[in-house]
Amino acid sequence: MRERRPGDRAFSRTRRAKDGITLSAMTDEQLLRYSRHILLPEIGIEGQERLLASHAFVMGAGGLGSPVALYLASAGVGRITICDGDRVDLTNLQRQIVHRTESIGQEKVLSARATLASINPSVKVAALAERADGARIEELVTGADIVLDGSDNFVTRHAINRACVRLRKPLVSGAAIRFDGQVAVFDMRAEDAACYACIFPEGAESEDMPCAIMGVFAPLTGIVGSLQAAEALKVLMGTGETLAGRLLLVDALRMQLRTIRVRKDPACVVCSARGIQ
Ligand SMILES: [Zn+2]
Repeated sequence: MRERRPGDRAFSRTRRAKDGITLSAMTDEQLLRYSRHILLPEIGIEGQERLLASHAFVMGAGGLGSPVALYLASAGVGRITICDGDRVDLTNLQRQIVHRTESIGQEKVLSARATLASINPSVKVAALAERADGARIEELVTGADIVLDGSDNFVTRHAINRACVRLRKPLVSGAAIRFDGQVAVFDMRAEDAACYACIFPEGAESEDMPCAIMGVFAPLTGIVGSLQAAEALKVLMGTGETLAGRLLLVDALRMQLRTIRVRKDPACVVCSARGIQ
């Protein structure tokens, strides 16, 4: 039997998965690059092909967005849109590991795109150097299979949540301040899913507490962002059990992890009226 080579017709064939997603057969290079994933029976060829066919929207190229984007790209998520209006600053480099010292002054999303391209050139990265408002966020969420929130303020968090509720997109939320982190999955494809506002109602929170004032432990952002990436990959592949319905709390000072149950709030102003919209 003749050895198959990239460029052979067999390599460009596509097929439909049971749920209608179009999957493309991997090249030899991809089979090697992702071989340690493919070896896992919970992922296999189909799981990896699902990642390659997926589009993730990442809000923020900072402390959380850095590990999120690095792992999504290295793991082979085919398209990543990353949005951030800031430029790289010296004070970012302690934890925002997608950026380099020579990138100081550059738009964060361009710096991030360059790093991601050096890790995995086949991933298509859309770098949006802008501060997106509610309408723009909804537009960006529309085209994504999953949304990862690495933003640092409640206005953006709630805007992302509203868009995900309206468009029924899975949302992987993360937060990190001082030594305390949180991770949650709101899988809005399920009718009974809680949303971010069920747990943190709009207007009920105290003021934003930015890292610039409160400080943040560098590896905590790596822990939380890596957990977000792990959950996103599982959601995209339909593998395992995600954090949906639970909120994971990370205490990095004592290194304690605990999860608490979260439920949909029937009185939530964001998601309770979804059915009659
Ligand atoms: Zn809600």
